[in-house]
Amino acid sequence: MKGQLLSGCRWLAFMVVFMVASCSKSDPDTISGHEPFQQANLKLALALEEESQCLPQYFDENILDSPCESTAFGLVIESYLKSFLDDAVFYDDDNQFDFNIVDRFSSLNRQYITHYRGEVYFGKNGQFTSEVQKTSRKLDRFWPANRQIVINAQHVQDLSDRETLADMIESFDKDVPNREESYRRADLLLNLSSRSEVLPESPYFAMAAFSRNNGLIVLGDGVVETFISMGLDGKLAYNALLSHEWWHQVQYEQNWKNITDFSSASEFSKYRELQADFASAYFLTHKRGGAYNWKKIESFFEISYNSGDCFVQSPTHHGTPEERRVAAKLGYQLASSAQRKGEIISIEALNIIFEDFYY
Ligand SMILES: [Zn+2]
Repeated sequence: MKGQLLSGCRWLAFMVVFMVASCSKSDPDTISGHEPFQQANLKLALALEEESQCLPQYFDENILDSPCESTAFGLVIESYLKSFLDDAVFYDDDNQFDFNIVDRFSSLNRQYITHYRGEVYFGKNGQFTSEVQKTSRKLDRFWPANRQIVINAQHVQDLSDRETLADMIESFDKDVPNREESYRRADLLLNLSSRSEVLPESPYFAMAAFSRNNGLIVLGDGVVETFISMGLDGKLAYNALLSHEWWHQVQYEQNWKNITDFSSASEFSKYRELQADFASAYFLTHKRGGAYNWKKIESFFEISYNSGDCFVQSPTHHGTPEERRVAAKLGYQLASSAQRKGEIISIEALNIIFEDFYY
């Protein structure tokens, strides 16, 4: 292990950065071209960007009191972060770990894919593109939306491409005066990558799985790679993530709840996240939805609830692992109940069923 270990606080900051990166967020419509972005529009959009609205009673007291410990999913994320600690490229002349390098790569890739509009492919080599397209058509019939839903894919290889890096920098570095300066800064990042084992290849830089209220859904290669590394089927991971994020689009459109209905941002976030888990499980196991056998996919839910977090005070809280598991099981039971078989329960009815369960 190179250098000193991060303090507990610093480590928490790392993990919080990850959790924020995996949240649903509210955003105004952003229209931006590619190669390069239309900078003026983009800056305006960024200036208007709202604070996070992925904001969180709940199940019974036993669940609320259940312990919240590090999970398998959390441990994999930790392993990515530890690999940074082992890489000399992150240390300055005083042998201090420079978190700004991690943040720089992470932020550029996140901003880029939030504002990118253009051709998309899913998976490093596009191997999941047809599956995502098929599931999005199915979801469009299952939960029709009155908005255009755009599904973007986040790739670590975008951080290796000089032109794309210069596009990112030209669009997001507010002090960059011209394209030449964008290239100069891009080359500095490429130089760091050339001396690193983990820049920019680490799945950490493509961990996005979030929604915005302008119809945008982003799915990162890294988060799916993480699930695959834990033994899950990649197609199932995409379908589960996409149906969860699609339900966030339903929430944005229906606007059943807002933050003022809750005592804190974390409670609002938790409510929305657990409802999305519930609805996703309903879609995935419904015969006219994902049509997955519960046994086949319960390993996903195992890991899905493992990606619950313990930041119960965080404005991006997703519910604890145990709460996520309970919500998903309810969705499955609803889809498989004999009297409901074949029927697609309306989104309004699903909302009421979840409310009855939650409170
Ligand atoms: Zn969510």
